[in-house]
Amino acid sequence: MSDHQPTIFDKILSGEIPSWKVYEDDHVFAFLDIGPLSDGHTLVISKERKAQLHQLSDESAAAIGRVLPRLCRAVLRATGATAYNVLQNNGAEAHQAVHHVHFHIIPKFGSEGLGVGWPAKRLADSTARELQEKIKKALEG
Ligand code: AMP
Repeated sequence: MSDHQPTIFDKILSGEIPSWKVYEDDHVFAFLDIGPLSDGHTLVISKERKAQLHQLSDESAAAIGRVLPRLCRAVLRATGATAYNVLQNNGAEAHQAVHHVHFHIIPKFGSEGLGVGWPAKRLADSTARELQEKIKKALEG
């Protein structure tokens, strides 16, 4: 059973509301973001209705991974951009507004595009050792 709450992307997938579609296959749908940070800002969404990346099936994840670089190349070729960000938000706290898995492809033109805050901390050895252990263990489970 899925706990997925319907979002506007369901309506885009069903064709109930229009979108500027640029790509579609059995698992993936891509279209222009309606509120672009720069020209060519494109959204790549799973057809599988899951809110966050870690909930996706391997099949959907593989399908997105297979086509994402191709879509990036197309956006670069179409816009002339040479730099870009791929952004993928999970959870409202992490700036996710539409709770349906999606990747942003955002061309960078000087100051136009994604602004990134990066308040880096220093990784202490004790913290690293503990996290490495915990993550490796979680991967086994
Ligand atoms: P996020 O903050 O990662 O959830 O981003 C959601 C994105 O979806 C935003 O950049 C919106 O501009 C975009 N968006 C919302 N509704 C639509 C729509 N109907 N068509 C295209 N893009 C949309």
